[in-house]
Amino acid sequence: MATFASGGRCISRPFAQALLNTLRQQTRPTSRRFLLTASCADPANGLGEEQRQIQKMALDFAAKELAPNMQEWDEKEIFPVETMRKAAQLGFGAVYCDEKFGGTGLSRLDASVIFEALATGCCSTTAYISIHNMCAWMVDHFGNDELRSQWVPRLASMDTFSSYCLTEPGAGSDAASLSTTARKDGSHYVINGSKAFISGGGESDLYVVMCRTGQAGPAGVSCILVEKGTPGLSFAKKEKKLGWNSHPARIVNFDDCRVPVTNLVGEEGQGFSIAMKGLNGGRINVASSSLGAAYAALEQARDYMKIRKQFGKSLENFQYLQFRLAEMATQLVASRLIVRNAAVALDSQDPNAVALCSMAKLFATEECFKICNSAMQIFGGYGYLKDYPVQQYMRDCRVHCILEGTNEIMRMLVSRDLLTER
Ligand SMILES: Cc1cc2nc3c(=O)[nH]c(=O)nc-3n(C[C@H](O)[C@H](O)[C@H](O)COP(=O)(O)OP(=O)(O)OC[C@H]3O[C@@H](n4cnc5c(N)ncnc54)[C@H](O)[C@@H]3O)c2cc1C
Repeated sequence: MATFASGGRCISRPFAQALLNTLRQQTRPTSRRFLLTASCADPANGLGEEQRQIQKMALDFAAKELAPNMQEWDEKEIFPVETMRKAAQLGFGAVYCDEKFGGTGLSRLDASVIFEALATGCCSTTAYISIHNMCAWMVDHFGNDELRSQWVPRLASMDTFSSYCLTEPGAGSDAASLSTTARKDGSHYVINGSKAFISGGGESDLYVVMCRTGQAGPAGVSCILVEKGTPGLSFAKKEKKLGWNSHPARIVNFDDCRVPVTNLVGEEGQGFSIAMKGLNGGRINVASSSLGAAYAALEQARDYMKIRKQFGKSLENFQYLQFRLAEMATQLVASRLIVRNAAVALDSQDPNAVALCSMAKLFATEECFKICNSAMQIFGGYGYLKDYPVQQYMRDCRVHCILEGTNEIMRMLVSRDLLTER
């Protein structure tokens, strides 16, 4: 009979299966007990009453609508359109857009609280919602009233999904070297080039595209909207990814793709600045998604330590694991504070906001990844099985160290701030 090792003993497969089933029942994401509520790691700590209510709404949505599905969406690579539209009904489609055209009108701090809460249920789906929010804000903040009235209501309801198109096959970290061109031809721009790794590519309805309308470097870049279905717009195959599987990433190609000049967001030559300003908020959002993944992983590791017995005691009795849990909670709270600090800096237009957002993204995405990895370790071999969500939180938040500016680029931005003579 097939066996596998458990606590140094060999046990039979039926017994092991029964144990596994019990553990699965007890630690399934849907049965999470949120034991850390009111603890030192509670994300409600430090928030006002209204923010707590918003947070509760997002946590409830995450527990009811996201967590029960996150495994299936990951395995089957499902883009959960209807669930995201339900999230939009709660105001999560355009969280920090102006209410004038249907945005929710909340602050960056509120948005961080919401994305952290949503990510406890599915980090990948939350990350896509956060990119969509970044695009909605770029249109709302820099677009003229015609563009805003045309797009913001549809983005807020998520009837229209959006993607952010900056990266190219030859221009990643050095995004200002991008080579996709937009040539003016009468009342149209004719766009040619390719964008790489576009989250939502092929599924999204609106593409916020940074392309070159002028000279080399950042000053020659403009931001132009391209609708799905425009002749000349096409999508390459879906990329196979380690995580973030509930939304696709594709190369997006532009081949003599003609769009009206009225699709220009802001002025010609402002595109790079618009893209970077979008990313300041994007970095807080993606870091907040990491916080949610780490919080969920910490909770599940904590619950597991209470039920898993080895050497005749539950794991919670081993001091090494107690200390590890304490370190994880400390990393989480420090990450949350630096993210919320950056969100407040962005809200108050602090002159150091760029560096503070970069610091927050650098610190929180790396620490939260470590927390998820530690949680997986606490689960032992079970943590490595796809039956348990902890590995998915780890896979999903790993990419946050890479995208929206790699963490090496975050270090560059912080050191540039420090070394600038004022
Ligand atoms: C799953 C996924 C989804 C994504 N979604 C989007 C999206 O929706 N829209 C979009 O526009 N982009 C998206 N991206 C692209 C992402 O932003 C880029 O991958 C990222 O900016 C890095 O670019 P690159 O991959 O070309 O790496 P490179 O720029 O080639 O970097 C390679 C390595 O060199 C390091 N490096 C580069 N320059 C320096 C330097 N000066 N000093 C020190 N180290 C340096 C980098 O940090 C990295 O470690 C996505 C990527 C992934 C993986």
